[in-house]
Amino acid sequence: MSQATLTQFDQLALPEPILQAVEHAGYEAPSPIQAESIPPLLAGRDLLGQAQTGTGKTAAFSLPLLSRIDLGLRQPQILVLAPTRELALQVAEAMQTYARFLKGFHIVPIYGGQSMGTQLRQLERGCHVVVGTPGRLLDHLRRDSLDLSVLSAVVLDEADEMLRMGFLEDVETILQQTPDSRQVALFSATMSKPIKQIAQRYLQDPVEVKIKSKTATVSTVSQRYWEVAGLHKLDALTRILEVEDFDAMLVFVRTKNATTELTEKLEARGYACAMLSGDIKQAQREKTVERLKNGSLDIVVATDVAARGLDVERISHVVNYDVPYDTETYVHRIGRTGRAGREGHAILFVTPREKRMLRSIEKATRQPIEPMPIPTHTDIADRRVAQFKQRLSDTLEAQDLSFFEDLIGSYQQDHDTGLSEIAAALAFLLQQERPLVPSEQDLAADRQHSDPLEAGMERYRIAVGRAHGVRPKNIVGAIANEVDLESRYIGRIQLYDRYSTVDLPQGMPKATLKHLQQVEVCGRTLKLEAVPAVAVNTPKPRKLKSKKARSKPKRKGKRSRVSS
Ligand code: AMP
Repeated sequence: MSQATLTQFDQLALPEPILQAVEHAGYEAPSPIQAESIPPLLAGRDLLGQAQTGTGKTAAFSLPLLSRIDLGLRQPQILVLAPTRELALQVAEAMQTYARFLKGFHIVPIYGGQSMGTQLRQLERGCHVVVGTPGRLLDHLRRDSLDLSVLSAVVLDEADEMLRMGFLEDVETILQQTPDSRQVALFSATMSKPIKQIAQRYLQDPVEVKIKSKTATVSTVSQRYWEVAGLHKLDALTRILEVEDFDAMLVFVRTKNATTELTEKLEARGYACAMLSGDIKQAQREKTVERLKNGSLDIVVATDVAARGLDVERISHVVNYDVPYDTETYVHRIGRTGRAGREGHAILFVTPREKRMLRSIEKATRQPIEPMPIPTHTDIADRRVAQFKQRLSDTLEAQDLSFFEDLIGSYQQDHDTGLSEIAAALAFLLQQERPLVPSEQDLAADRQHSDPLEAGMERYRIAVGRAHGVRPKNIVGAIANEVDLESRYIGRIQLYDRYSTVDLPQGMPKATLKHLQQVEVCGRTLKLEAVPAVAVNTPKPRKLKSKKARSKPKRKGKRSRVSS
């Protein structure tokens, strides 16, 4: 890994509230482009950066420029020009998060398609940063509704895109209306002649930064990519985990927060999974690596920093869940597999906007990365059926089954049933926990987080699922029985293989929660715990009380909405 990536954020002379925001975002170390851009931009230098989406370029200019604004002055001090409304909004959102600890900070996005009135009002109220598309910005300049007189920095983001979309003239007109003293940062994925010409005309003695694309060989590693579409990355990953033959897998994400989140979700799906991030103490880290080596762990979710130097022969797969910042990071990541002459597999998730990184990697590694179809529902069913048959063959071969043969023989006699029927019933029982032909819902890894929740309700997870034979009515019955709540106030219930979720009115007293945690359904303790979910719809207020004496649940009123 390059020297640049070894820099720490706290070595970059960024002010405390900015560092705090970086910590809050879970960033562990600056990306190469950040390590190189932040110091000169902090020092007020102009900058010419060759970087595309995915390299961390937004933070590369936002962190230093936000460090230099005067919060007491409510006039635009930073102007960011972006080619599209989508990008403008994205940049505005990112800057807002980096400025989350700057008191009184205001940013206004300006783009075509939004009502002029709204924008005029926002600009009138005053702001520190304006992010916009050239056309609409120019409209405001013409109307005198945008005052650039105290502007200290201009950023041209994705300059090549702006050029391609025919904004060159607009961009130049805008630049000409900014004070001479302003600092300029120009970012572009490519450095074509017209881009260089703009740089020459408007940038003064710029520092040039470029992400490295050293060529490297990765011949023992087969490489595939999936373009994120239609499915969430998490769902795609769980499907890959089912169908792909892997020994151990290393999954790369960008932030510490993402390591925690993804590890929890994979654990909830029953995978032996642990995380490695900069927050993990050395002793714990060693334990995790040891467990990965000896096979008691199959999946490790890691950040680049934490996975540095990891050498475990068992790692057969590297998944780039979040794209790497540059080709060097990519090569380093996939170098964690294919060790000691073994075969390795690399899988890369790229969003459409990150496609360019994919091409850069192909160029740098001089190898094509093949598109990878995401396993379908049928692929998964086929795989489960094949595994099931294999288990049967293995058992027939390796086990002494005489006791069971007698048992089945006597059952057959007593019940006058065919052997194939008995075998079918046994097969059914055996696959209940993990259906051989799963429903789409069984495959939706993150369903409990994405299903909308009615306002006034809260979602809880309970440790009993379809595999334990639970029915929604058992859950309704148990809860209604234990707390003073008519069943109609019990909201949506979702059954999953090994757990379920139930929506209950907000504001459950601690004592009630504690009580419900210990209630048993189908012989299992509920272990009720709150899960985050998105709220929609109308309020449904109702307070829950702990109920000391047990009584029959009240069954009047409309039934709870139930789905499974
Ligand atoms: P960008 O290239 O600016 O579009 O950023 C791509 C993604 O990388 C965004 O989701 C950022 O939140 C994330 N990101 C930027 N810098 C870092 C960092 N130093 N560590 C982890 N994630 C980062």
